[in-house]
Amino acid sequence: MKKLLALTAIAAAVVGAHAQDFPSKPINIVVPFAAGGPTDRVARDLAEALRKPLGGVSIVVDNVPGAGSSIGAAKVARANPDGYTLLLNHIGMSTIPTLVRNVPFKVETDFEYLGIVNDVPMTLISKPSMQANNYKELSAWIAANKGKINLGNAGVGSASHLCGLLFQTATKTEMTPVPYKGTAPAITDLIGGQIDLLCDQTTNTSPQIEAKKVKAFAVTTNKRLTTPLLKDLPTLQESGLKDFQVTIWHGLYAPKGTPAAVTKKINDALKVALKDPDFIKKQEGLGAVVANDGRIEPDGHKKFVAAEIAKWSPIIKAAGVYAD
Ligand code: ASP
Repeated sequence: MKKLLALTAIAAAVVGAHAQDFPSKPINIVVPFAAGGPTDRVARDLAEALRKPLGGVSIVVDNVPGAGSSIGAAKVARANPDGYTLLLNHIGMSTIPTLVRNVPFKVETDFEYLGIVNDVPMTLISKPSMQANNYKELSAWIAANKGKINLGNAGVGSASHLCGLLFQTATKTEMTPVPYKGTAPAITDLIGGQIDLLCDQTTNTSPQIEAKKVKAFAVTTNKRLTTPLLKDLPTLQESGLKDFQVTIWHGLYAPKGTPAAVTKKINDALKVALKDPDFIKKQEGLGAVVANDGRIEPDGHKKFVAAEIAKWSPIIKAAGVYAD
């Protein structure tokens, strides 16, 4: 028994010493979607903003796409809890438990919550050859093309999947889902006309809307946006889809069991990054709002995710689109 206690004390001392040195090697942020998409974009901007407050260490973005973020999230849930493997994921953390049948991780218990990063509206966009030029014309086109419409998404449980499901329910139209490993490849196919419609974060759609490579019809927030590029887009609510509202948020996580001294260092660095004027400028230019409330604390983040699970579960179930 004595020997066991001594070994435990040594192990704790080693972990403590490592925690003190943290970070002493590159940190990986796993993005559970394809490179070049909106989650990836947030992660890369955040990695840059985190570098200085984490003592100049390199922060590498590791894309582990597939299954609407479940594969990447599960990888982090099982990673060594030493602070060198983190996860940046979005609203899927709160909708996957209802949307996906066999979730390969437990949102509530497999992670240390490190803070919410931002909130991002979505936009409903179409292929450039779409004949409609405003939401009214689009809804007439949808009515005339029932059964023939292809709607892209980033896999079951992704933000685009959720938004697309709610859109189909609200318009009482079944569309053919076309899954991708992220909305970066989905938007490429939308531009090429292989799919008709996509609902995606403004952080991904803004450059394409600006370059007129896609057509934009509405935003998913309950108020119009103030971003110059997007301010004239109507909300889906004012376009007739009562109660339609989705805003995507991103949060940072570490595997459960990461030492408190390490998670504190990361959360402290995150709070510095979220005040970085360059990071704020980049995010705001793309329609995102950098978090600046109680959700940037681990407790606030965890409570927020629990509240989001409670909020989305009945909505998803009422829409009749959940997995079981
Ligand atoms: N926007 C994607 C989604 O629909 C994810 C991504 O590619 O970042 O969830």
